[in-house]
Amino acid sequence: MKLHEYQAKEVFADAGIPTPESALATSVDEAVEVADALDYPVAVKAQVHVGGRGKAGGIKLAENTAEAREAAESILGMDLKGYTVDRVLVEEAVDFTNELYVGVTMDRSEGAPVVMVSERGGVDIESVAEEAPEDIVREHVDPSFGLQAYQARNAVYDAGIEQDVAGDVAKIVQGVYDLWADSDATEVEINPVMVTSERDVVAADAVMKLDEDALFRQPAFADMEEDAAEDDLEAKANEYGFDYVRLDGNTGIIGNGAGLVMTTLDLVDYYGGQPANFLDIGGGAKADRVANALDMVFSDENVDSVVFNIFGGITRGDEVARGINSALEQFDEIPTPVVVRLAGTNAAEGREILNDDLVTVEETLEGAVQRAVEYADEEDIQ
Ligand code: GDP
Ligand code: MN
Repeated sequence: MKLHEYQAKEVFADAGIPTPESALATSVDEAVEVADALDYPVAVKAQVHVGGRGKAGGIKLAENTAEAREAAESILGMDLKGYTVDRVLVEEAVDFTNELYVGVTMDRSEGAPVVMVSERGGVDIESVAEEAPEDIVREHVDPSFGLQAYQARNAVYDAGIEQDVAGDVAKIVQGVYDLWADSDATEVEINPVMVTSERDVVAADAVMKLDEDALFRQPAFADMEEDAAEDDLEAKANEYGFDYVRLDGNTGIIGNGAGLVMTTLDLVDYYGGQPANFLDIGGGAKADRVANALDMVFSDENVDSVVFNIFGGITRGDEVARGINSALEQFDEIPTPVVVRLAGTNAAEGREILNDDLVTVEETLEGAVQRAVEYADEEDIQ
């Protein structure tokens, strides 16, 4: 689960990590009101889960009320890499001289958390990581002791952070690590930490990803889940209890079992199609779950065809087939072609039961995927 910048900044502020004054707005008028209550200039920032918002036009600076209105008008409702912006963070702009990078994540190869510090923060940190990895200092942490103060200082010193701000940056590093550990986070990242012209340091951006399996013991974060959802579809998936990941293709995929769904994704790609999603409806694919799954993929306007890949184990093929029939019978017009591949327990009975007027039945997985990709291509042309 990934928090929005505004959520992560609230968490940072509570943890004592300095952030600029800011407030969230969901309409242009509200954004202007917030801006006027802050000190100009302000930054208006799109709240969507995509990296590189700055480069993509999702962040604008405003010197006065008129510019704040203009910025909010251009950002709210804009399409940022496939996501519609419905919220902006309006924040006092930082007059900065340097942009630093601070992050904590799990280093799986070392089996330990790693703290990262660089004085080359800002929008090009990815190319720094690639071209000059030595410019990002890494300090591994023994989780049973936590990050020691001397380690934070060492990392800041090794990264070449200017001396007069080094103490404050070390405090941020410590704060970020402690927050990471206390909140069952998988990643906490500040890029950039800005050094202001007054030689203060402040978290100008905030990324926070949390382990969803730990939410049961993180009630404050569990409460943020709904607002953190990227879009209506993710919110719906949470509600239905599905494992769902939206992708950017047009072939919708529904299966039972993560491995089976992954295989289907790979095959769609193999046959020249583009997966629209990962959707695992899990075991016991009863009629209501099938209907919910269809509701999800049909709600994605990019979807041009759907392939069901169901392997019957405890879930019997005939049950699934009845579920698919009854779910599709509810439509006056089925939004996109649906292809079904059933295997395993009672698969033959299931194929008999499936209504050919509603779905295309394929015996093999390869056949089903190819057919779905063809349908998606045809719809695409129309
Ligand atoms: P990202 O592009 O999605 O990572 O968004 P960031 O919040 O990191 O902002 C990207 C860039 O926008 C920063 O590196 C700055 O160069 C610029 N920026 C963001 N906020 C401010 C601000 O308050 N003042 C100024 N001058 N620039 C800002
Ligand atoms: Mn950033």
